[in-house]
Amino acid sequence: MKREFYHKIGEIEDDIKNYYRYLHRYPELSGREYKTQAWILDQLRKWEVECRPCADTGVYAVIRTGRPGHTIALRADMDALPVTEHTGLPWESRRKGVMHACGHDAHMAILLGCIRILQGYRDSLCGNVVFIFQPSEEQQGGAERMIKEGALEHPSPEFAAALHVWPQEAGSITCMSGPVMAQPDAFRIEIRGKGGHGAAPHLCRNPIPALASLVNAIGNITADVVSPQEMAVVNVCRIQCGEKYNVVSETGCLEGTIRTYDNAVREKIIRRLKRLTVSTAEAWEMEGTYSMSAGYPATINDRAAASWAARILQKKLRGIKVFSEGEASMLGEDFSYFGKYCPSLFLRLGCWKECGDKQYPLHNSCFEIDESVLAEGVEVFCVLASVFTERGFGA
Ligand SMILES: [Zn+2]
Ligand SMILES: [Zn+2]
Repeated sequence: MKREFYHKIGEIEDDIKNYYRYLHRYPELSGREYKTQAWILDQLRKWEVECRPCADTGVYAVIRTGRPGHTIALRADMDALPVTEHTGLPWESRRKGVMHACGHDAHMAILLGCIRILQGYRDSLCGNVVFIFQPSEEQQGGAERMIKEGALEHPSPEFAAALHVWPQEAGSITCMSGPVMAQPDAFRIEIRGKGGHGAAPHLCRNPIPALASLVNAIGNITADVVSPQEMAVVNVCRIQCGEKYNVVSETGCLEGTIRTYDNAVREKIIRRLKRLTVSTAEAWEMEGTYSMSAGYPATINDRAAASWAARILQKKLRGIKVFSEGEASMLGEDFSYFGKYCPSLFLRLGCWKECGDKQYPLHNSCFEIDESVLAEGVEVFCVLASVFTERGFGA
């Protein structure tokens, strides 16, 4: 791509920051991104970019150059979290109890910046660039709905990329191949005993000791059924039983999460959880019920796409450190659905502020990004789009 394209990013850097600050100030929860959607559509129409609403609160946009070439899709997620912000930033959330604590505001600002640059240079582009602003990543799965509503048709992308701001040094991008985000399942075990007076436990069946022994047993599952070479997490995160100190509750339950990359490992864990539910309940002469809801599939980066992108980014972006390896995360991501249609790549953009006491993890009420990474994210997307649409993976 032309040299001037890099200068252009510097020219609009303040605008990109303003997009980010605006989106940060007005976060919306999963499935309710109505104002975010309207605002994005307004910007795109102002820049005369072909766009339409998709999946209720999402936005689909495309630049069709009319010249032969390849098609790439770039995706940003849109939703915020039910977290009360404590950053104290001037652009702190104006919506009580809702915060962009996962950086999806940054992802949208970066994708908008990229669209603005590419639209300005569309005469020197080839092929097509599809832009996906996807709602409901944190829950309900907006990615799958965008795909069902045609986001990957006419034109069909041959490659899909997304990035996530990541708690690592600013000015770095991780472009790893293979496992990157795990499958996040939720499970629930309900124990039904017999309620009664706390002073007469022998006449009751108190679910609490049964739940306690389940928690201990569950803590050993990964060591017991998963090889140390495999990645897995089984974690109890919620227990609920009883209302009063002297009343034995009839029922109690615990809930937790299973994180895996491999279906065989996942099946082994589920089988053990089901067995433990039945055998523990039986040992305590109670009834146990196991239920679960399956999470998004694991996100696996395409090996060829990852090494292609690492090479291209290293060559074109001299100021940014490109890591071609990284640790697979046990967090979940519904970007995985795009990977079922074409080679896909989920990049991590280092976003930590230099000052150590501002380095908080994703989903933390103090989570903050170094704003310099916004322009870097735009550069990354612009480079991938301009090179891929011209030469595909052959570059
Ligand atoms: Zn998140
Ligand atoms: Zn996220």
